[in-house]
Amino acid sequence: MAFSMRVLCAIALAAAIEAAGLASAPGLRLRGGGKHYPKLPDSVKPGVLYGDALKDLLQHAKDNCYAIPAVNCVTSSSINQVLEAAKKYNSPVMIQFSNGGSQFYAGKTVESPKDTLKGCVLGAVSGALHVKQMAEHYGVPVVLHSDHCAKKLLPWFDGMLEADEKHFKEHGTPLFSSHMLDLSEEPHDENIATCTKYLERMTKINCMLEMEIGITGGEEDGVNNENAKPEDLYSKPEEVMQVVESFSKVPKAMYSIAAAFGNVHGVYKAGNVKLSPEILGAAQKYIKEKTKATEDKPVFFVFHGGSGSEKDKIKEALDYGVIKFNIDTDIQWAAWDGVRKFEAEKHDYLQGQIGNPEGADKPNKKFYDPRVWIRKSEEAAVERLGEAFADLNSVGVLA
Ligand SMILES: [Zn+2]
Repeated sequence: MAFSMRVLCAIALAAAIEAAGLASAPGLRLRGGGKHYPKLPDSVKPGVLYGDALKDLLQHAKDNCYAIPAVNCVTSSSINQVLEAAKKYNSPVMIQFSNGGSQFYAGKTVESPKDTLKGCVLGAVSGALHVKQMAEHYGVPVVLHSDHCAKKLLPWFDGMLEADEKHFKEHGTPLFSSHMLDLSEEPHDENIATCTKYLERMTKINCMLEMEIGITGGEEDGVNNENAKPEDLYSKPEEVMQVVESFSKVPKAMYSIAAAFGNVHGVYKAGNVKLSPEILGAAQKYIKEKTKATEDKPVFFVFHGGSGSEKDKIKEALDYGVIKFNIDTDIQWAAWDGVRKFEAEKHDYLQGQIGNPEGADKPNKKFYDPRVWIRKSEEAAVERLGEAFADLNSVGVLA
């Protein structure tokens, strides 16, 4: 089972490379038209992707065993560094906002009453508009997404959906490509029922849903699963099937599943995390049989809590249909490390507005200007993103 999927991936990759080389002989091309990017289907264009274009990209990723890096952003600078990295490494990307990240984007003092979470809605919409404005200009395809939304945060989800519906009425697409609803802390049946209800609403505006089953360990954005029971950290094929069954009642629905296979949010000491990606492979096989699917990997899986994972486990997960990989903690560190190194190197130029080793009256503006030290953070993040993209096989997909 593991073997056959991995061989298939190797064949698919070889075919993609061959297809790119044979771009002038249309009859021999195996996929895509290469209108915008030689290896990708015609529908995938620079800018934010929606509906069929989004599905085409994810299918291409699944067929060729790479994942779209999904990076959490909290400022326009962090968005720009992701776009810069996507362009530099020729990779499609996802830009996502968490609830806390959305609030931060709006500004920490913007009020967010519990019943509306207005500040979070405004921040998410503002971030989305920045991405829409810039993505096409960078020449990269971008999936615009919102991260974990637990039950108590549903007003945030509703607010974003209202913005999507308004955008759909005016422009024929939602504002966001997709959203994540994470009701994995609720009973399994309630999780699926609520997600199905939202999926119906989202399908009407071509918006994709990411849902979560099981528990991602660790701590993220105020949700603490550090003391979760070990068996809850691994999803069963039957649980995945229940989702597929319920969602199949919504025609044309687009969705992905974050199933638990031992993944953990945050970075901990080596050895604390035991990833078992074969759980995803077993689920794919089970769903294929139950639904009589023609595809070996009928499900789009999502990998949460990937920071600090062993590289071979990541590759294995890609073989089993992981098409989105969340990246947050490692980039947070890289961004800080860029500033840290700069401060260490220029310490004596950063202790006051005037006065440094070159003279007591020398000005230090060119060291403390935010464009200098924030740029150090961006540069370090871009470099680290390149490493993450390489782990996900997504480097060069746009070339
Ligand atoms: Zn997550």
